[in-house]
Amino acid sequence: MPHHTHDHDAESPEPGHVHAAVDRDIDVRDDWARRRRKGIPTDKQLLVVACMDERIPVEEALGLDLGDAQVFRNAGGKVTDDVIRSAALTTQFFDTTEIIVVNHTDCGMMSAPDEAVVEGLEAAAGGDIDAVDVDPALPELNLGGASLSDWVRMTDDIDEACRTQVELLRDHPLVPDAVTVSGYVYEVESGHLRRPGERVADQVNERV
Ligand SMILES: [Zn+2]
Repeated sequence: MPHHTHDHDAESPEPGHVHAAVDRDIDVRDDWARRRRKGIPTDKQLLVVACMDERIPVEEALGLDLGDAQVFRNAGGKVTDDVIRSAALTTQFFDTTEIIVVNHTDCGMMSAPDEAVVEGLEAAAGGDIDAVDVDPALPELNLGGASLSDWVRMTDDIDEACRTQVELLRDHPLVPDAVTVSGYVYEVESGHLRRPGERVADQVNERV
């Protein structure tokens, strides 16, 4: 039998053991295709909650690859009932141990006064917003006594809003206490993340 050396690749299977590499490939594909059914968490055990704004490269900003995290995006990156639902499910059943909230500068949620947004939505609903199901599949879930403007969740200060979303997740009874929750503001003007409240651009442009 001819002798081959594979100094360049210690992983190469020995002659006659090609099946080992094939089996490994098949197992990896099986794990990928059936990871939820097999109870395999995301590679980073991470859920990201971010604004749906098209300028935020969520994965790139956080250094994530495909498979690393679940990503929930909505208008404003706000902790709504469906964010709680998703966070509760992934932390309880998919072994997710970390949540990161990503808000951003120039967010559309800061672009209009509450009254203007409420008026626009009421006009879209034909004037009677109380008769509209906020979840069409679950009519029982309505705004109740809540104001439409509270439901929309417009924002005055993005850094403060980011801190608030983190607290809402940390304090929620359906999100286990052991889950780590962090928040960052993505600066569309610089392409970088900052911790909320750390507006370096402001600090370097003002007298101490
Ligand atoms: Zn936004």
